[in-house]
Amino acid sequence: EMTGEHKKHVAVFAFPFASHPPLLLSVVRRLASAAPTVVFSFFSTHRTNQTLFPDTSCCGNIVSYDIHDGLPEGYLLPGKLHEDVNLFLAVAEEEFKRGVEAAEKDIGMKISCLMVDAFLWFSADLADELNVPWVAFWTAGACSLSTHFYTDLIRQKYAQIKGSTGVEDEVTNLIPGLLTVRLGDIQSGIIFGDLKSPFATMAHKMAGVLPRATAIFINSFQELDPDLTKNLSSVFNNFLSIGPFNLVSKQKSQSKADEFSCISWLENKKPGSVAYISFGTVCIPPPHELVAIAEALEETKTSFLWSLKKDSQKHLPSGFLERTAINGLGKVVPWAPQVQVLEHCAIGVFVTHGGWNSVLESIASGVPMICRPFYGDQPINAWMVERVWGIAARVEGGSFTKLGTCRALDSVLSIDGSSKGVKERTKALKDLAHKAVEPNGSSYRNFKTLVDVVVGGASS
Ligand code: UDP
Repeated sequence: EMTGEHKKHVAVFAFPFASHPPLLLSVVRRLASAAPTVVFSFFSTHRTNQTLFPDTSCCGNIVSYDIHDGLPEGYLLPGKLHEDVNLFLAVAEEEFKRGVEAAEKDIGMKISCLMVDAFLWFSADLADELNVPWVAFWTAGACSLSTHFYTDLIRQKYAQIKGSTGVEDEVTNLIPGLLTVRLGDIQSGIIFGDLKSPFATMAHKMAGVLPRATAIFINSFQELDPDLTKNLSSVFNNFLSIGPFNLVSKQKSQSKADEFSCISWLENKKPGSVAYISFGTVCIPPPHELVAIAEALEETKTSFLWSLKKDSQKHLPSGFLERTAINGLGKVVPWAPQVQVLEHCAIGVFVTHGGWNSVLESIASGVPMICRPFYGDQPINAWMVERVWGIAARVEGGSFTKLGTCRALDSVLSIDGSSKGVKERTKALKDLAHKAVEPNGSSYRNFKTLVDVVVGGASS
């Protein structure tokens, strides 16, 4: 039981999959330290809470509550993401509701605000019932939020284009605030793919409900997407970019300690010479692409640090690991402290799947990219990186071949000046990212607004 002088009680609902809970918790931590007299109840599944709160269910004015994950008794195959998500969503509304009632009794105070992962669109009704503000967190970029929000509009406009040849490669202006987008890069479930899948349905319902939010916040900075920000600010209440998170949270988000000594390995490398390679926590490129990358690295003699799960390392060409370790060309590790790695001056390019966190961490560190997107919002993120922000080399044909990878690496890492434009634009965005989080920068001010919305007058 919480004792003491708590003046307000905020309930937080996590979407208990992938990197969603730790990202949301990092914002709750910032809010909790800005408003020490407010208690935050953090609702997630036992499995995720266990890793987020390893020692105790309570840290300062944040208390964690477990809700049921919806998995049937004896269900032995968690890890099939879509199945797990569907089972969870089937019980989520009731579970969260019951959880709030229990937490209100436990803390001895009604909640005054409901803060949720935007995927939990149905919780807007609970906020109405309880007569409290509903605040939503979109864990990715303004670009993918826009495509979801404008799904109906995009489907209408697209119906007119449909049928023309090579329609996936068509570049149009379908999204308000975004002059160009390649149709094939819009998330599956909006115009291509299964429009009726549970995930597509969830995203579509979310789009319909988001205008009811008192505030919507994202991990970005508004100078990155001025036109999208302007447009989303006109359709949402308090649309707030409060990132990049990796520049504001002292906490090293997903990055665990440097157990494989990546940073000391980088110390001996020339500035801007090393390729850092990682495809995030979920994506696994097919074996032949891993081989193509490895061959290109050896062919171009590019120094590299590669975060690659143990399971995938067996697909590398024979002798590759040993050769490159002995001659010092590269280092393959199952996990790297990515934020610190990207901040290291030795890194000259980030070969990435275009996950939103990776993209933003790269921008905040001023590292140009080579994107190889797989699914979800990765293709549209990569579109932004390459074609809107112009801070990447493109992989010819959209997947890794030896030749295409050699060319992409050469084009970013060359010292002959051919990558000058990319490097200048990358540096300019890095500066804007850093300015945004400084006192009175846009993200700083937007965070203050978020504090006001979430805790009212109770901030310190
Ligand atoms: N990450 C890391 N070390 C690794 C691989 C990934 O720290 O070796 C972190 C990375 O910094 C980022 C997150 O994991 O914060 C991956 O998030 P992203 O949105 O890029 O991709 P996802 O895993 O969601 O596909």
